[in-house]
This record gives sequence, structure tokens and C-alpha cells, in this order.
Amino acid sequence: MSPQPTVPMDGRCPSCSASIPVDPRFVVWCPECDWNVDPEAEPPVAPTSWRTKRAAMERLYAEALNETNPYRRRDGLWPVAMAVAGMAHLTLAAMTVGSGWLLAIGPLPVKVVGMVGLVAVFFSLPRPRRVRPDEWSPSRAEAPHLYGLADRIAAELGVAPVGIIRFVPNLNASFDRVGFRRRGVLNVSLPLWEVLAPQERVALFGHELGHAVRGDIRRSLWFVSAYEAVYRWYGFTDPGNRALLTIPHRLAALLLLLLYRPMERVSQRAEYRADDLSVKVASSAAALSLIGISTLGADMAALLQRRTAGFDPEDGAALWRELREHVASVPESERLRRLRVSALRAPSEPSFYPPVHLRVRLAGERGVERGSVDFPEREVAAVEAELAEVRNRMAHAVLTIDL
Ligand SMILES: [Zn+2]
Ligand SMILES: [Zn+2]
Repeated sequence: MSPQPTVPMDGRCPSCSASIPVDPRFVVWCPECDWNVDPEAEPPVAPTSWRTKRAAMERLYAEALNETNPYRRRDGLWPVAMAVAGMAHLTLAAMTVGSGWLLAIGPLPVKVVGMVGLVAVFFSLPRPRRVRPDEWSPSRAEAPHLYGLADRIAAELGVAPVGIIRFVPNLNASFDRVGFRRRGVLNVSLPLWEVLAPQERVALFGHELGHAVRGDIRRSLWFVSAYEAVYRWYGFTDPGNRALLTIPHRLAALLLLLLYRPMERVSQRAEYRADDLSVKVASSAAALSLIGISTLGADMAALLQRRTAGFDPEDGAALWRELREHVASVPESERLRRLRVSALRAPSEPSFYPPVHLRVRLAGERGVERGSVDFPEREVAAVEAELAEVRNRMAHAVLTIDL
């Protein structure tokens, strides 16, 4: 990390003399010339590969921007990913048949090999996750207005209504399909929900339910079960000192890489698509403001951490109020700086998300002034009342348990 440059006392940029905002809580920088925009920047390790990655990111963005029908967008790598997943499924099928055959015909030592093979197959099989309703997932009867909002958005996007809405203490929202019936579970970050304006909440639901639209690779059972099986093989075959496992381990690593590469690009496209659907239901302004708030995740987490010491756990409302005030107090210049940093920094590692500045740009480019789903004041109040208990319980949990 480079040392923090001296803060100019006169509120003027040392590089271009423009007047710059000074807030002691945040990095002092110049929005005019980008002086000190990213004091923690590390020089790119491999500038050429960084340029290539950046060009690929820009290309993907341009494609997303030009695709005006988000439902029709499907990545060229999709069939490749599905075919590689098919190879993994075929390997599993071959292992099952082969092991069964060894077990049936071989002498005892061969039978043992067959048995080991079958056990390996068993542990590689996909395990459909179950989510049981619990105290974090209000039922439809308990929260009719909350489900009503999700249902209106789902209908607008042409996807099935969600099965369960579940609140989580971390700062991520997600959509999953669980169980044999592939029921939709909408996981909503309660801290995030608390700091969002009503239309940003519509944007949040719109984005997550946007992942329920067909063609999202991370929700494809065919793909995900193959990925998980290969991931487990990779784990089992970790050679340690059993040299015999080196080759299966290398093969599993190769297969994993073959699955991972297309997944990265196809996932990034799915994120752009979910953003597009979020814009459609909520508006450009709400969607891009939601994406902007997601860059404040670390600050919100830090505040929740700090609050766990010496805070009255019975006063849940105060915790959420403080979080809201904290987010509202982040100056515009700091929000802008984070977007600039996203544009300047090298994408450090493979990611399933496009860079945040491109997501914001896409939402803005769509220019949707009014989304197709409203969340009027009386509905907001009704949902608030429905969630009173879960909000208090969550505040108590955040303040008393190390989540
Ligand atoms: Zn300047
Ligand atoms: Zn997403």
C-alpha cells in the first residue's frame, strides 16, 4: 500500500487546484482529475493480461447493452458449459456401471474396488438442499403484503411465485432453487432491506427474481449438480501421499476448470440480465442506486460489528435506524469514488459479477424513468408491520451472537 498523501488543508486539489470535498471518515480525492482516487491501488501484476481482461469485460458490457430483450440473451458458451457438465454426468454413470460390474463378477479384491467406486459415486450425487421454514422466514399468512410484492414482481417478470422469503443477517441477497420440486427461495439481507428506499426494495426483488428466469446457469440443476460432483471428486482425490490419486485429481481439476471458465462469463451475463429486469420493474434510478449501495457493504458490516459491543440488544429499532443514518451520511463524492475505483482497478480474480461501474452504467443507459411495479406508502407500512418481529429478532441476534 502506498502512503496516504497529505490531506490538503485548504480543500483544494494539489494537482489541479479544483475545490475538493473533505470528510475525515473517507479518502480525500479529486473528482475532477482523480488525484488520490485509489490510495490503496496495487500496480497490476501482469499488465497485459489485465488489459485483455478489461477488454473482455468491456465487450461483455457492450453486448449486454445492445441486447434489448433480456429474455432472449443466452451466452455462446452455454452449450459448451452444458456439454462439459454432460461429461461429468457421463463419468458418474460410467463409474456406477463399472463399479457395479466389478462388484458382480470379480473375486474378492476386485469386489472391494467396485464397492469403493460405488461409495465414491454415492458421495458425488447431488444433494438437493432443503430449506425448512423457520423463525427467519415469515409465512404467506404472516406476511401477505411482503409476499404480495414478490408475487407482483414475479408475475411481471413471468416467473413462478417464490416458495419462501427468508431473511438473512449477512449483506447478500440471493435466489435459490431447493429440494426436488425446485422451489424458489428468496434470501433477503435484512440489514440491506432496512437501508433501502421502497423503490430500491422493488429493484432488489426484481434483480433476485430476475435470476429465476430460465437460462441462469447457477440455477440449472444439470450444470450445478455436475459442478458439485466434480468439486467433491476434486476434494476426495486430493493425493496427499497416495500417489495413485494424482491422475484422478488432475482430471477433476481439469474438469473443474472447464466448468468454471464458461460459468464465469455466463454468470456475468446473468447478472446484467437480472439488473435489466430490476430496472424494468423498479426504474433505472432505483436499480442503480441499489447497485451503488452494494458497494457500501463493508462499511455496513463494520458498523454492525462495532455495534455488537455495548449496545442494548432489546432496542432493535435503534440499530436499524443507526444503520440507515450511516448509509445516508456517506457523501456523494465517496460513492462516486468507489465507482471510479471499480473502473480503474484490475479485476483481481475470476468473478461471477461484472464490475460495479459497468452495472451502474447499464442501468443508467436504459433510461427507465418509471418501473412497472410500485410499492406505495401504505403497502410499505403494511410490510413494515409484518416484519416487526423478524426485525427485532434479527437485531437481537446481530447484537448478541457473533454472526
Ligand atoms: Zn484535481
Ligand atoms: Zn445477481
